[in-house]
Amino acid sequence: MAKQPRPLIAGNWKMNGLARSGTREARALAKRLAGVKRLGCEVLICPPAPLLPVLRAALKGSRIAIGGQDCHAAATGAHTGDVSAEMLADAGCRYVIVGHSERRADHGETDRRVRAKAEAAHRAGLTAIVCVGETAAQRRRRETLKVVGAQLRGSLPAGATAGNTVVAYEPVWAIGSGLTPTAGDVAEVHASIRSRLVRRFKAEGRGMRILYGGSVKAGNAGELLAVANVDGALVGGASLTAKDFWPIVRVRA
Ligand code: PEP
Repeated sequence: MAKQPRPLIAGNWKMNGLARSGTREARALAKRLAGVKRLGCEVLICPPAPLLPVLRAALKGSRIAIGGQDCHAAATGAHTGDVSAEMLADAGCRYVIVGHSERRADHGETDRRVRAKAEAAHRAGLTAIVCVGETAAQRRRRETLKVVGAQLRGSLPAGATAGNTVVAYEPVWAIGSGLTPTAGDVAEVHASIRSRLVRRFKAEGRGMRILYGGSVKAGNAGELLAVANVDGALVGGASLTAKDFWPIVRVRA
């Protein structure tokens, strides 16, 4: 029997949070986690880049890892406003999200660019959380599996392993909308992702974690996290406060 991957519950704060409120919420979550006897999952917060040093200090010795929300493909250079994977690692990050649909939409990021960012993450020793997902129109046209398959093919580097890569399935229409696919729909997409990962990466693909993301809340986390091949969640809005994030983390804690 293949070993079950350790679930990952990741919070994506997006462009939200200031030093004082971010520290307060992260510490409150860390306090809850400290009370768990044998923690059954990894917990991650990806704050805006300026908050990384603040959260690194606030979460020292806690069970919460920190991660970046994006990185440039290059290690250094003339790229005003960008942050490299090496800088994130230097700031204490263990993970970085790449290819989030908001970056694909707002910054025109292609699969090729996302793959280069994932390669940069690996070069810096970070685990890349590679996001894929269909739009509402693509789902209506029943193109979900085809679209997600193409994104996986184009965005995952050849060197992806169970240790350095996590896939996040995030239907674009579910992000921030309060809408979620049915458990059956999630099961179908995650099974398809798993079989593509195994076909391409063999045993590594079997161990790669596949997160579900898109309007995960306290009320639906139990059902979504129980679906086969759902190895955790990527949570946006509900990760901003310990009060909202803790009930989701607790499902797997
Ligand atoms: C996200 O941004 O990755 C996300 C899943 O957002 P939300 O949980 O707010 O839908």
